[in-house]
Amino acid sequence: AALYRVDGWGGPYFAVNASGNISVRPYGTATMAHQEIDLMKIVKKVSDPKHSGGLGLQLPLIVRLPDVLKNRLESLQSAFELAVGAQGYKAHYQGVYPVKCNQDRFVVEDIVRFGSPFRFGLEAGSKPELLLAMSCLCKGNPESLLVCNGFKDAEYISLALVAKKLALNTVIVLEQEEELDLVIDLSKKLCVRPVIGVRAKLRTKHSGHFGSTSGEKGKFGLTTTQILRVVRKLDQVDMLDCLQLLHFHIGSQIPSTALLADGVGEAAQVYCELVRLGAHMQVIDIGGGLGIDYDGSKSSESDISVGYSLEEYASAVVQAIQFVCDRRSVKHPVICSESGRAIVSHHSVLIFEAVSASTYQSPALSQFDLQYFVDGLPDEVRADYGNLSAAAIKGEHETCLLYADQLKQRCVDQFKEGSLGMEQLAAVDGLCDMVSKAIGTADPVRTYHVNLSVFTSIPDFWGIGQLFPIVPIHRHDQRPSVRGILSDLTCDSDGKIDKFIGGEASLPLHELEGNGRYYMGMFLGGAYEEALGGLHNLFGGPSVVRVSQSDGPHSFAVTRAVQGPSCGDVLRVMQHEPELMFETLKHRAEECDGGRSSSMASNAALASSLARSFHNMPYLSSAAASSCSL
Ligand code: PLP
Repeated sequence: AALYRVDGWGGPYFAVNASGNISVRPYGTATMAHQEIDLMKIVKKVSDPKHSGGLGLQLPLIVRLPDVLKNRLESLQSAFELAVGAQGYKAHYQGVYPVKCNQDRFVVEDIVRFGSPFRFGLEAGSKPELLLAMSCLCKGNPESLLVCNGFKDAEYISLALVAKKLALNTVIVLEQEEELDLVIDLSKKLCVRPVIGVRAKLRTKHSGHFGSTSGEKGKFGLTTTQILRVVRKLDQVDMLDCLQLLHFHIGSQIPSTALLADGVGEAAQVYCELVRLGAHMQVIDIGGGLGIDYDGSKSSESDISVGYSLEEYASAVVQAIQFVCDRRSVKHPVICSESGRAIVSHHSVLIFEAVSASTYQSPALSQFDLQYFVDGLPDEVRADYGNLSAAAIKGEHETCLLYADQLKQRCVDQFKEGSLGMEQLAAVDGLCDMVSKAIGTADPVRTYHVNLSVFTSIPDFWGIGQLFPIVPIHRHDQRPSVRGILSDLTCDSDGKIDKFIGGEASLPLHELEGNGRYYMGMFLGGAYEEALGGLHNLFGGPSVVRVSQSDGPHSFAVTRAVQGPSCGDVLRVMQHEPELMFETLKHRAEECDGGRSSSMASNAALASSLARSFHNMPYLSSAAASSCSL
């Protein structure tokens, strides 16, 4: 566990159990009531067709853990309740979940259900997000907020006003000044008194990777001058009482509570100014930014870690707002946050298989190979070989390497000219590998081929170099004997993972065993990765299972299981029509066969094999596929 820092990034939810497997403690503790769930048992149950009651799902696989989601929500809520109570703050905390972090229906529905007792709401940033937030909140607490962020057109604003008409607690947050006229006109037309928020561009700037949206030149929000114009215009049309919320977002992964307090303090001043100017302010919405410790280092110096706990975050927020409001004698506002990463990151684990590994051991060269190689060498190359042999006998390592490089380069040149055969080129490769291995300079890092697409499942690694904890989910009772990087299935040189938490360029890994399988997990990827992932090489999303704690013999129950998109599904996304494609290919098979009736059976077999190809997932399949039809 120490080798992979599981205790650092995994706590309190993930740990290595007595069998050497990674297990989940959905409630952050393992007690009689809350048992651990062994990830290997889940994999076996859902993917092994021989497992009794098994589901035969293909990997890669996302394991969703709603109990973890519930615990994250409750922990955030109780951190704020603790801070409010301890500091004598005179209003409550009421968060919203920004659905862009993971729009999966069951994730959003779970959040609404789990958060209902404490009025937890949703944030949307686009029209489809608003539609899903509206329908999910119909089953939630009527006091939960529905915060409408993002750039808006008339259609978006009308939809938000309809939400208000449907008695959802909707706030239209102005991201651009131009949105105000639309809100004023449309609310009159639809006869709805809107609740309006403004997003402020703060001067406080977060300098990390995720801070580019913050500061005066940030992409979103209104400048001080624009906010003043909004206030004036609302006053002119007798709608200043509609302005009730101040929103800002410093950026994701805020590294320290010092930066947080600085930004929140500045925003609290803006809030108090809006009160002074006559707005009926009620809520300060501090945006997202509550960070995750991806590498377990608890450092405020890195983009992938944070130097505070949930409790310290909440305490810094409450204190900064209270301090400013008390000095300005302003009633304490309701505190809203839009934490996404911190709520959903832990709730899912991506599990995939390593299917093969490269070997750096060169094939042993026999005396015959060497003799054949030397005999075929042109004179000047033979001189290089002689120098290499002499240096090897004298034990001069540096010189050996030099001559080996020279020999190889000369042989490659000769091959390009056509004066050296492939067998000799292979022999010189083998010889040079042997030399570097003998003197200890051979690259010991192996390449593990994984049944996964980095572009589909870990897009932030490819796009912005974001690191996630990636570890085998079993064999922790055996010492890993090699180091490796991971190479995915796509025909793309970027489809590899060669940077790992802790600044490592390779991962300690176990040798792949004969028929045994090697399962790995990518953790803390529950936020952003699923919606950002693309279809490069037409690899679609993974299969998904939802696993809850239960009292049964395995301590878990699979409450939902969905196979990932098939080849037909991903082709359809690109406008192909799998049914027509299948018919075309089937017709072609009959034509090629010339209508011989003797081969009707083989034609039927061919058709069903084609149908299977459309039906199965694009990933490598280890199980013999069962028959199916389109
Ligand atoms: N709110 C807004 C306006 C955002 O832009 C973001 C993301 O950057 C979030 C909330 C969620 O942030 P986080 O995932 O850091 O909590």
